[in-house]
Amino acid sequence: MSKRIIYLDHAATTPLDPQILELMLPYFTQQAGNPSSIHQLGRASLQALDDAREQVAMVLGCSRREIIFTGGGSEGANLAVKGAALAQRARGRGAHLVVSTIEHHAVLHAAEYLQTVGFELTLLPVDVTGMVHPDDLRAALRPDTVLVSVMYANNEVGTIQPIAELGAICREAGVLFHSDAVQAVGMLPLDVEALNVDLLSITAHKFYGPTGVGVLYARRNTPLQPQIHGGGQERRRRAGTENVPAIVGLAAALTKAEARRPTYATRLSALRDQLISGLLERIPQSRLNGDPLHRLPNNANLGFDCVEGESILLLLDQAGICASSGSACTSGSLEPSHVLTAMGLSTEWANGSVRFSLGQSSSEEDVEYLLDLLPAMVERLRTVAPCAA
Ligand SMILES: *Cc1c(COP(=O)(O)O)cnc(C)c1O
Repeated sequence: MSKRIIYLDHAATTPLDPQILELMLPYFTQQAGNPSSIHQLGRASLQALDDAREQVAMVLGCSRREIIFTGGGSEGANLAVKGAALAQRARGRGAHLVVSTIEHHAVLHAAEYLQTVGFELTLLPVDVTGMVHPDDLRAALRPDTVLVSVMYANNEVGTIQPIAELGAICREAGVLFHSDAVQAVGMLPLDVEALNVDLLSITAHKFYGPTGVGVLYARRNTPLQPQIHGGGQERRRRAGTENVPAIVGLAAALTKAEARRPTYATRLSALRDQLISGLLERIPQSRLNGDPLHRLPNNANLGFDCVEGESILLLLDQAGICASSGSACTSGSLEPSHVLTAMGLSTEWANGSVRFSLGQSSSEEDVEYLLDLLPAMVERLRTVAPCAA
């Protein structure tokens, strides 16, 4: 059996690009300085920070002032959702939020927290492919709605939402619109004007940058209540000494991901389709989760009848293949993924689902290896524990 690790979990995290690490290293050591210090090392760090901000603004198509460096995707989502909602309520605009049912927990749990401090929450449904429908958003908006949050592309099933259309509806209604674009970087266009977003969050470790650093784009004049209090960094929107090495890495990784996006997305889509059709052909009673067309180029999420996704993952892991399941194992009991459940999938189907997410290292050989091994694994599991039905 191959000792090689086949990493098919790029939606969970990606390895830091060695070229990016190289660019970061000096800022940990000989170039280290606090950007707020007036001496030469401080000024050099401030310059690096300014340059990084400019690079990020170029990719997002916005002004440097609209960029807030954060500690990652979860922090960006919290600042967007809680920061914008609380600031709006303080201005007497209302206390109603609209969030899709398939959001990452960073958004969902932030919205649920706001319920505990007096906000009302409307959850937007999705169809069986995981898609939010514009008419459902129109119906959910109220005069007191202050914020809508719908992710650009889902991390579990890869469904791409009609963000520009949803954003236009919000703009017309005068409601702020946030999109969690974490999974979209390097795969889909990120122009904030074309997307009609007021707030957009990303995190570097999903695009070959370092972990623990992200960006929140906040359109000019968007009211935001800081969620971390302290110094005046990031135009008083996010206190704390800037993580200069990580920010330098984020900006370079984002620029690189954007530059190669068209060819990368094309390459991964072909691999993805090979993986999906290969597994559907070779494994009876299997199906694709998510939208077949409006789908991230790197996402393949499949459901297999009469098997636990967790059991498949264990066998795959023994063969050196890293993948993920939507279900989180909580205190011994399998809780089905909130995303698959929201799409209307049964608990059995949801628990029999596995996500494969491709990336830079992925090759045809990786896909072939998976196609060679997985059918027998599923068959073995089905024989050991035959389906009750
Ligand atoms: C990974 C992820 C996050 C969280 O980002 P962190 O940097 O890990 O906090 C948020 N949203 C989506 C869609 C993600 O995939």
